[in-house]
Parts: sequence; structure tokens; C-alpha cells
Amino acid sequence: MSAGQATVLLEHHLKALRLPTILREYAPVAAACTAEKADYATYLLRLTERELLDRERRAADRRLKAARLPVTKTIDTFDFAAQPSVNETLVRELLRGEYITQRHNVLIVGNSGTGKSHLATALAFAACAQGRKVRFWTVTQLVRQLLESREERSLQRLLTHLERHHLLVLDELGYVPFTKAGAELLFEVVSRAYERQSLIVTTNLPFEAWTEVFGSERLTGALLDRLTHRVHILEANGESYRLKEAKKSRKRTQNTKPK
Ligand code: ADP
Ligand code: MG
Repeated sequence: MSAGQATVLLEHHLKALRLPTILREYAPVAAACTAEKADYATYLLRLTERELLDRERRAADRRLKAARLPVTKTIDTFDFAAQPSVNETLVRELLRGEYITQRHNVLIVGNSGTGKSHLATALAFAACAQGRKVRFWTVTQLVRQLLESREERSLQRLLTHLERHHLLVLDELGYVPFTKAGAELLFEVVSRAYERQSLIVTTNLPFEAWTEVFGSERLTGALLDRLTHRVHILEANGESYRLKEAKKSRKRTQNTKPK
């Protein structure tokens, strides 16, 4: 076999085996190994290491995309000093992801603009990086999707799809009240998740007000029971970050005006 034929065959095999990084790098790494007088095993080790690293990176990108975070927010851009009501120690502990292994839930409660969605997104982002399957939903989106699926007789498929995640984020519970059917379907998701998946729920509602949104005391009781059995509660109270920023910039422009 000529060298040219061997190359063609090798590249074909690497493609068939789905080793794109080795395909891209086998020649330059071979040149480097020859120069260093590295042995065959070292050459193979370097190639497989690169393939593995790239594979992990590609998987992480896919996981992040599949999580459908509304925006990519991480904890690096969260200013704890601006929101002292948030328990930073607990947030840092949650970022390690042990709660997902234990199938515990996280409830983030507080008024509007206090960083609840930011924190939920940062936790979801960290979970993706740790290899977890994550999906972010606003509650309204999810309930709409559940109702639509039921209509189209594909509810079981959606529920099974939801179950395949380690972590579901349900953002903004309580902004819109549910219909009876919507409340029951959401209850179904929370029930199925119980002790099998972790949920992060953000809400502006104190517990007393949940019945009003779910429309049934019995359902609310059962839901809260499951959601809060093993739960970490993060409170984000205080002034809205957006409002504070707006006030600051208004003050800045006032101060820079010529007197
Ligand atoms: P909530 O979900 O509680 O209504 P968000 O998380 O949507 O609030 O926060 C509103 C905006 O303010 C977002 O752009 C968010 O990134 C930002 N924000 C809120 N709190 C903080 C904070 N402590 N540090 C940095 N940005 C913050
Ligand atoms: Mg929010």
C-alpha cells in the first residue's frame, strides 16, 4: 500500500469511528512526537487525551444548549454585596451540585428584580458544567407546553422527556394564576420529580398566597408538601437591583449636570 492510500484509509477509519480530533491532529502530533523521539504509546496517549477533552467540551456545549437558559448568567456577575439578604454561603454550597445528587430542591423566594432568575440561571449553568442534564422553563411556558401536549395527545412523551433531566428550573411561579387543568399538570410534574429529580423554583409568592395561584387548597398542600420535603430556601428580599441601578445612573447624570 502506498503512503497516499494509507492516509486515505486512515482518515476514512477515523471518520467512521467518529474521532474528529484525532483526524485533525494525528499529523501535527506525529511530527511533534518524532521531534521529541516520543514512543508509539506516548503518541497514542496524546491523541486519545485530546479526543477525550474535545468530546467532553462538545458534550458540555450540547448540554448547555439543551438547557435553554434564557441568558447565560453565571455567579461571577452576581454582586452579593448588592443583595445582602441572599445567603452567599448557601449559594456557594449549592453551586457544588451536591443537592442534585441528593435530589433536593431549591426554592428562591423574593420580590421582583432581586436576582432570583439570575441565581437560578447561575445554578443551572453550574449544573450543566458538572455534566447534569438541565432544562430551564418559565412556569408559564411549561404549563402552556403541558396543556398543548395534552391537547395533541403527546403528554406522556413530554412528561417522559422532562423526567430525563437531573434538574428542572421552574422560573416565575406565581406571576400568572393557572387554570385548573394547568395547575393539575404542573402538580403532575412536581409529583414525578419528587425524590427522583431536583427542581429549582423561583417565586415572588409567600407560601400563604400559593393557594390563590393554584386555585385549590388540597392541590397546593400536596404540591408544597412534595416541593418542600427536602428543600433549600434562598431568600432574595430587598430592593430591586434594576431599580437601584436606574436610581444610581439617574443620580450620576444629575451630578454631572452643570450647576
Ligand atoms: P428576579 O428574577 O428576582 O425578578 P432577575 O434575576 O431577573 O430578578 O434580576 C433582574 C436584573 O438585575 C437581571 O439583569 C440580573 O442579572 C440583575 N441582578 C439582580 N440582582 C443582581 C445582583 N445582586 N448582582 C448583579 N446583577 C443582579
Ligand atoms: Mg425572574
